[in-house]
Amino acid sequence: MSTVSTVVGGISFWYAQEGTPTPREPLPGDTSVDVCIVGGGYTGLWTAYYLKKAVPFLNITVLEAKFCGYGASGRNGGWLYNGIAGRDRYAELHGHDAAVRLQKAMNETVGEVVRTAAAEKIDADIHRGGVLEVAHTPAQLARLKDFHSVEIAFGETDRVLRGARETAERVHVTGAVGSTWTPHGARLHPAKLVKGLADAVEALGVTLHESTPVTEIKPKHAVTPYGTVRAPYVLRCTEGFTASLKGQKRTWLPMNSSMIVTEPLPARIWDAIGWEGRETLGDMAHAYFYAQRTADDRIALGGRGHPYRFGSATDNDGRTRASTVTALRDLMVRLFPVTAGVHVDHAWSGVLGVPRDWCATVTLDRSTGLGYAGGYVGSGVATANLAARTLRDLIQQDSGQAGPTELTALPWVNHKVRRWEPEPLRWLGVHGMYAAYRAADRRESTSPRPGTDPVAKVADRIAGRH
Ligand SMILES: Cc1cc2nc3c(=O)[nH]c(=O)nc-3n(C[C@H](O)[C@H](O)[C@H](O)COP(=O)(O)OP(=O)(O)OC[C@H]3O[C@@H](n4cnc5c(N)ncnc54)[C@H](O)[C@@H]3O)c2cc1C
Repeated sequence: MSTVSTVVGGISFWYAQEGTPTPREPLPGDTSVDVCIVGGGYTGLWTAYYLKKAVPFLNITVLEAKFCGYGASGRNGGWLYNGIAGRDRYAELHGHDAAVRLQKAMNETVGEVVRTAAAEKIDADIHRGGVLEVAHTPAQLARLKDFHSVEIAFGETDRVLRGARETAERVHVTGAVGSTWTPHGARLHPAKLVKGLADAVEALGVTLHESTPVTEIKPKHAVTPYGTVRAPYVLRCTEGFTASLKGQKRTWLPMNSSMIVTEPLPARIWDAIGWEGRETLGDMAHAYFYAQRTADDRIALGGRGHPYRFGSATDNDGRTRASTVTALRDLMVRLFPVTAGVHVDHAWSGVLGVPRDWCATVTLDRSTGLGYAGGYVGSGVATANLAARTLRDLIQQDSGQAGPTELTALPWVNHKVRRWEPEPLRWLGVHGMYAAYRAADRRESTSPRPGTDPVAKVADRIAGRH
């Protein structure tokens, strides 16, 4: 298989397919509004959507550096699913029942996105096939069984554990020895969702200014090269790009994730692979992959690649190293040998936000009116929607329009975490962690023992994940 004519970068395949949007007009000058949202990804747009729906007279402006969906929201793997980063940590901090409420809210969020997209006539190729995660080695199988039990303990009683034969009946992944499946997931086309959402928000009467980078956020102000927006509430919705804002260099680490997509595959190949249910698909490796079968029958598959750029540098329109493209292609062929001759049409990358304790958060500081949401650590497609509805409730509560709600009482609200270490410690830490994960995956692949490799456990501890 050749990758010679693979398109690399170009923001993402999803835009190559859909067309890159022409940016809306930038901010024309200084202005005052009720709510200013910085960043036009899922977090910012869903927040604008729910706030405007709740309080139609609110004057809301979204400021977006490039165009809505330029970031991870227009580049991701299209797993709309119920995972939320940090749930187990929140159980430790706030008790098991609080974390169960958080998980339940996430389970419901999958349906909320599907329903709202339908109500707004956003056709984002959504297919509700659930999430299938497979194990390839004895160590992965042990982790998978633990993971399965933990999810059930957090209220997912509809989760199903499958053996090797049953797994192969769903999707024929070479060497899979078992899997866990949850119905709380759907496959979608990320760019179609974010474009449709931007249009829906604009149609509601929210003002979107694109090509408008915010350089600094301070209480009641968002500063741009074209003027300053003054607002009682300023919400930072910039996830993986947060480090580029003044004073936020060490807030969330911009972690890279990279993807490839094949040409549309013929029936002969799908006959060998199966995957009729179009579940989103992943595994239990430390450096795990995530994949989907697209609406037009391609495989889109992602993984970590080159995890982090020195100094929290964020983006170059999705450009991706040749070695990452080759590694992802080789991984796909290992999983599905029948794809050995197929063409990889496109490869790209994006950044997601990782807090120091790997816990997603949504926060509104009542004394300053500054809010933010993110740190979803690669599970942001559904989580951004829950965050947005929570920001709506927090603002309504703060402005006296409503009282506390179930959402404002969830344990991830107003969570505080320390900042990342300065360089070069950040770079060394992240690269060391992923080198350790890859080494652990290699050792587990040849070991008959079911336990997780100790190197991975040490890496988890150093990274602050457990
Ligand atoms: C390759 C990849 C695959 C992923 N796969 C999945 C998946 O399958 N499922 C899942 O749940 N999650 C996945 N994620 C994570 C998920 O996509 C993100 O968590 C989510 O999209 C974050 O949405 P957001 O709106 O918070 O941030 P973003 O979508 O990154 O949006 C932030 C926006 O802010 C803008 N911006 C940045 N700086 C400024 C500034 N200074 N001024 C104004 N605007 C600014 C950016 O241009 C961008 O449009 C993936 C991420 C990547 C990168």
